[in-house]
Parts: sequence; C-alpha cells; structure tokens
Amino acid sequence: MADAAIPAYNGRSMHDGPSELPPHTAGAPSHDALATADLEARVELDIEATALDPTRRIFVNRNLRLEQIRQIGFDMDYTLAPYVKRNLEALSFQLTAERMVKVLGYPEDILNLPYDKSFVVRGLVVDKRFGNIFKMDSHGHVGRVYHGRDKLSKEERRALYRSAKVRLAATRYHWVDTLFALPEAALFAEIIELYEKVLKVKKMAYWKLFDDIRSSIDLCHRDGSLKAIIKADMPRYIEADPELPQTLHKLRSAGKRLFVLTNSEWDYTDAVMSYMLDGRLAEYPSWRNYFDLILVGAQKPRFFREHHTFDRVDPHTGKVVATEVTRLEHRGVYRGGSIKELERLSPPSGDQVLYVGDHIYGDIIRSKRDSLWRTLLILEELEGELHLAQDMRRTQADLEALEEHRGLLDHDIVALKLKLQAVETSLEAHPGAERVHEARRALRQLLDRKRRNLRAVVQRRDFLSQQVDRAYNPYWGSTFKEGSDLSRFGEQVEDYACLYTSRVSNLLSYSPTQYFRAPRHWMAHEKA
Ligand code: IMP
Ligand code: MG
Repeated sequence: MADAAIPAYNGRSMHDGPSELPPHTAGAPSHDALATADLEARVELDIEATALDPTRRIFVNRNLRLEQIRQIGFDMDYTLAPYVKRNLEALSFQLTAERMVKVLGYPEDILNLPYDKSFVVRGLVVDKRFGNIFKMDSHGHVGRVYHGRDKLSKEERRALYRSAKVRLAATRYHWVDTLFALPEAALFAEIIELYEKVLKVKKMAYWKLFDDIRSSIDLCHRDGSLKAIIKADMPRYIEADPELPQTLHKLRSAGKRLFVLTNSEWDYTDAVMSYMLDGRLAEYPSWRNYFDLILVGAQKPRFFREHHTFDRVDPHTGKVVATEVTRLEHRGVYRGGSIKELERLSPPSGDQVLYVGDHIYGDIIRSKRDSLWRTLLILEELEGELHLAQDMRRTQADLEALEEHRGLLDHDIVALKLKLQAVETSLEAHPGAERVHEARRALRQLLDRKRRNLRAVVQRRDFLSQQVDRAYNPYWGSTFKEGSDLSRFGEQVEDYACLYTSRVSNLLSYSPTQYFRAPRHWMAHEKA
C-alpha cells in the first residue's frame, strides 16, 4: 500500500485548520479578516448543528471542547463498522445452535428455533439461577421479568427479586451490554421455552445451559467461523456508511490524529475496513491512509486495566514481528498493548484523547475509570428511539399533563382528609351541631369525587404509558427507561459517556471546534 502523504481536504493541507472557512479570492487576507471569517464559520456550523435532524444529533452529558481534542481513537465493530443487525444476529444464533447440537449434544430441535430480534435489547440481565431475563431500573430495582417467553406476574417477580439486592457482578448474572450478546439471551429464552413447554422437561439446569450457550458463541467468534461467513458476503452483514469517509477526512483536515483500537485481529480488521473505506475518496486509496495508528487484538477491557507492551504486526503477512516495540511508527499496525504503553509512546494523551466506542463496559466504563480519555458512545438504538419519540410527542405531552393532574389530585385528597379529620374531631365534642354534620357530608362527597377522578387519571396514564412502552419494544419498552425512571443501561450511559450519538458519521455535521455543552442538571427540589 502506498503510504500517501497526509491527504488534503478541498486542496488545503490538514494543518490549515477547519476546511469550512470561506475561500479568499483576492490578495492575502489580513489576520483580522481571517479571524472574523473563522468565527463566522464556527457560528454558522454551531447553528447548523442545532438545526440538525434530531435523530442524528450528538448528545452531551459532560462539556467537551472538540477543539482541545488532539487524538481520536475509534473502536471498529459496531462503531466504525455498523453491522446489519438482523443478519448478523440471526447468523450468530444459528451458528451457536449448530455448535450446541454438534459439539455439546443438545437435541436437534434447537436448530429450528426462531430468532425473534425484538425479544432482546441491550441492558437486559440473564439470571442463570432461575432461567430468567430481566430489566432493571437505575436504583437496582428489577422491573419486568421473562421466563422463557412468559412474563412473570408482579407477585412472582416480587417473590424472586425483592428480598435481596441484585449484584450484577455476581457470577449468577450476565449483563447483556453489547449488541454481540443479544442472540445468546434470545437463544437462552427459546431453549427454555422448548424444553419446558414442548419437551416437558421438569427440572432444568439453567446455569449450565447459559454457560454452554456462552462458550459456544464465544468459540464462533474466536475460531473464525462467524467471521469467515461475514467476509464472504460483506454487503449482507456490514452497512458501509457512505458518510464515514468524509467524516474521517474532516477530522483529519482539522489536524486531529486518528487511530483504530479494536479487539478484532488484523486480518478481519483489514477486510472490514477495506470494504468500508478503500477507494471511497480519491485522496485515500487505502483505508489505512485515514489513520495514524492501527491497534488490533487489543483485548479491551484488559487494555485499559493492565500494563502490556505492543507487538508489531506485518500488515502484508499478518504475522507478529519478533522485535521489541520501543516506538509506534506512523501508520504502523500493532497488536495487544495497553493504554499506559500507548500514552507513553504516542502523546498527546489524557483528556486530549477522545475515544469512540459502542461497548458500554469494554470501551466506555473501563476507559473512563482507568484513564482521563474523553468518551463518545455509539448507540445505534438511538435513531429508532428518537424517531419514535417524535411520533409519540402528543401522547408524551398527554402523559406529562396526566402526571401533573395526578399530583394535584393527590395533594387535594390529602388536604380534604385532614379537613375531614378535623370536622370529625369537632363532631365528637359537639355531636348535635347540624352545620358541622352538613360540612362533613359535603367534604365526604368532594373526597369521593376526587378519588374517582384520581382513579380515572391513573387508569388513563397507565393505558398511555403502556402504549408508549409497546411502541418502543413490545416486551421491554425503551432501552433507556424503565417505568418513569432511567433503566440501568440508561443510567450507565449518563454516568460514563461524555457524549453519545447513533453513529460516527454524525460528527460530520459538527465543527471540529465545536463546544459540546451539557444541559443544566436539575435536582428534584429545583424542578419543583
Ligand atoms: P471491537 O468492537 O472492534 O473492539 O471488537 C469486537 C470483537 O470482539 C469482534 O472481533 C468480535 O467478533 C469479538 N467478539 C464479540 N463477542 C465475542 C465473544 O463473545 N467472544 C469472543 N470474541 C467476541
Ligand atoms: Mg465494538
């Protein structure tokens, strides 16, 4: 591959600053004129960003000045490379089932199980002891629970999950926190359904079943079987985002150093990235021209926690070169390593690095806890949920009005009850006081009316919130909410991601000097 010089954007060198500056036609512009033009261009871009299609916006949890970011690292799978989810998930589901039948001796019936993609969302928890799948809210309260494909009643749920706090770190639980993990949760539910309803098995070893599914899917990823099928038919499994080349180009043109940091190995990384980027822009014949450094087989989250040196990979043979790595060459390919080693050999580091990834734990939580890197989380669910939120705006407004009405009614009822108590106390002292009797009758009637109203409001609110919930997902509602609270997953997005958005190319609509400002956070008493 020709190691081309850093490509220019619209004929400008990447060191010339943001390429959106208006061209200057006559003579050399003064410093002031340039500064004004720069300012105007930035203002224009900021306005563009606010007028953006809301489903393509970048959302802000913590302030971030893109201008101060010098290096941007990208995860590959589900970040730079969006998969055609339904195809990849169906393939993982099928390969895992086949392995369980052929290698672990499970009955052939499981080969015919359907893959229902709507039954699993990110953020679910598998309970290996009871064979359940559930969703939690941000307080650790277990919301809805399914056993196989049956929803547990409120009483069943309380009996199982009300007596002890759910500690997600316990081996009993498996948190479905990556999109790669959705098929395994689906297969778990379907096999339980098959065993208990069709094969009439009385006592199942749920824990072993899940571990068998986990090890089978793990092997499909590791032994290359899944990747061989993907590589043989890229368009079926990978959605090459047409705006990705421009996005990377724009960031490079603004002087940012870009690197890839992926757990995938070199041969697969090369195949996927070539498919997505080779030859898309004239200035970049190869995908490697976009990146200053390529880090593969990184073993995140270990990459962020432990200290390991890098191995150099020869991109032509794919083999590791047996020499000690004391510097990271421009456009070099390296394997393993760690954040400590990367920051030592390839400054700038710390909060001048923005890392873009899709895995809440492996990419975002670990990097946030173990480094100063800023983070941009890619949540492909966001686009669909934002579209729905738009469609359901009216219903949502009705829900809010009902909630407010309910609050007022609650308040009135408490006040009326207090008044009634006072009247009754007075009647005890003066049982013959006709006017007080009259007042008691009126208060009781009013209280009854308010209570009837309250019941109607609660009923309507429950109906509408169920409607909203089902629109998001018939089984689990919105990925980011549980009831009126944040889901556990939603909470983690808020706690750990500085920024979040639905795809990498959403960066294209923002200026490379954008100041991402977090909205003001209100405490409950401030809202009141
Ligand atoms: P990244 O998202 O680019 O860091 O890389 C994800 C890599 O992890 C891909 O190569 C996946 O095939 C791989 N992967 C995903 N799930 C599993 C698993 O359960 N076991 C082993 N590898 C996995
Ligand atoms: Mg990924």
